[in-house]
Amino acid sequence: MSPVLRLLPVVATRRRAFLETVLWSTVSQVAAVAVALGLAAAVGRVVVGAPLDLRPVTALLAAGCVVVALAAWRESWVSHDLAYGLIGVLRGRVFAALRRALPSRRRHRRTGDLVTTVMADIETLEWLYAHTVAQALSAVLVLALSGAVSVSITPSLLLVWVPLLVAGVVVPLSTASLARRHGDALASGAGLLRAELVDTVRGLRELRGSGALGTQLDRIDDDTRALARLQVAQASRLGAERAVADAMFALAALGAIWIAVSRADAMAAVDVPLAVTVSVVGLGPAAQIADLLRNAGTLRASAARIGDVLDEPPAVDDDRPARPTGRERGRGRTGEDGLVMEDVTFSYDGPRPVLDRFSLRVRPGETVALVGPSGAGKTTAARLALRLWDPDGGSVRVDGVDVRELPDAELRRQVAVVPQSSPLLRGTIRSNVVLGDPLATDEMVRLAAETAGLLDAAAGLDKGLDTPVGEHGEGLSGGQRARVAIARALLRRPRVLVLDEATASLDPDADAAVLDLLNRSSDERATLLIAHRPATIATADRQVRLPR
Ligand code: ATP
Repeated sequence: MSPVLRLLPVVATRRRAFLETVLWSTVSQVAAVAVALGLAAAVGRVVVGAPLDLRPVTALLAAGCVVVALAAWRESWVSHDLAYGLIGVLRGRVFAALRRALPSRRRHRRTGDLVTTVMADIETLEWLYAHTVAQALSAVLVLALSGAVSVSITPSLLLVWVPLLVAGVVVPLSTASLARRHGDALASGAGLLRAELVDTVRGLRELRGSGALGTQLDRIDDDTRALARLQVAQASRLGAERAVADAMFALAALGAIWIAVSRADAMAAVDVPLAVTVSVVGLGPAAQIADLLRNAGTLRASAARIGDVLDEPPAVDDDRPARPTGRERGRGRTGEDGLVMEDVTFSYDGPRPVLDRFSLRVRPGETVALVGPSGAGKTTAARLALRLWDPDGGSVRVDGVDVRELPDAELRRQVAVVPQSSPLLRGTIRSNVVLGDPLATDEMVRLAAETAGLLDAAAGLDKGLDTPVGEHGEGLSGGQRARVAIARALLRRPRVLVLDEATASLDPDADAAVLDLLNRSSDERATLLIAHRPATIATADRQVRLPR
């Protein structure tokens, strides 16, 4: 099925607005054609000197103009309301799909450009929903009406209509694959450029410090120029197609005049202005349909990318048995507390597994250091504990329950992973800690901050825990950020805490002090410590080694 057609059923969520758009679009187009034809008929009578009562004609034409204006205004209102509503629905579905699918196991998947491209794609569909579907339906109606008027004047006018209609469809169709290629290249080029700009602005200081900023800016310059070349190619194609469409109108008028002049028996002189007008005005809706076909390439490319996201396989398989109730959850393997990884095998997109029948157990109150060379799979193991992905073989269990059987919210409450750099958001130190549990009381925040060594670290700051934090933790030192991230995780009082190089940015004394506080703070918590620093590893009760 065409990717565009696949996204059309979303219209069903706003059926009433859609039908109203069709109605007002039809009213405004029919009224516009009627006004033009009424005017042409009046001109015909004036030209041949036939009697004409100007007053009712003027009143009718004026009323027609008011109807056109009001209907067009209402149609624009309803169609945009419809379009932005549908875009909202689609955005929700895409976010839900991304939420299920990310983080992707596939290395080539760049979430930044994927998200920016797809969000831009959804905006592109505004044109489809606001200016295309309903209008195309009413255009077909108006086209049929104008055709009937033409035939009633003289069937010869079909000699003008039919070839031009065919040309109006064939020209855009013949360039459809080029349009699709343009649409694809433009959207992915623009997405990449946006992602590149965001990366560059974020890493501005580091890039400048390492002397790589000039090279990066040159790259952005090259990509901008390449994108501009594509945009020019697209614009000139669209321009050429529009020129062909405009030529069609001129040809339609000429064709109608030619029939009137060359075939004297075809129509009466009084009908000549009417014939010329109906040929030109009647083709107006056809131009709208041609417009749809002209933009079909871009629409198709955008719709295909959105479809890809909606089809992206979920990061974890949620076709598991019914989620267990509270009672069933208590039925984990008896006596198996803490975190257990049993015979876990996992690979990303390559054939070689990163983890191969790996087993580990961390009991409550115990701290186990997971060690191994770089790339051995330590972080991967941490992510499996949090069920970012499911293992290809074996199982991961918390307190005897397979993580695949735990509802998401409960798993996040039971397992907390603190990576080396946790995302910190604009706000205050406190607001960043509270992200761990928005319902936490001040006392709980204070306790978590104390255990993470954050209270001491914040004591030196003017506003303590209420010290402002900029975007990405701007304004805090690496050590302070690490403590905020640990406090955030502790606030959830997790059963399993995974510290993945979480204290690497602390100086050795602070590192030892925080780990000591953590070790002494709970007998209930199983702690998995991923570290390279020997002194950090030495704070653990025992070690488990991952081979390369
Ligand atoms: P380090 O000590 O350097 O942090 P690690 O032991 O934590 O390393 P992992 O980060 O788990 O190692 O990575 C294990 C392997 O998996 C590496 O070879 C890495 O390149 C690969 N890998 C990690 N993330 C992905 C991903 N999203 N897609 C594909 N491969 C990945």
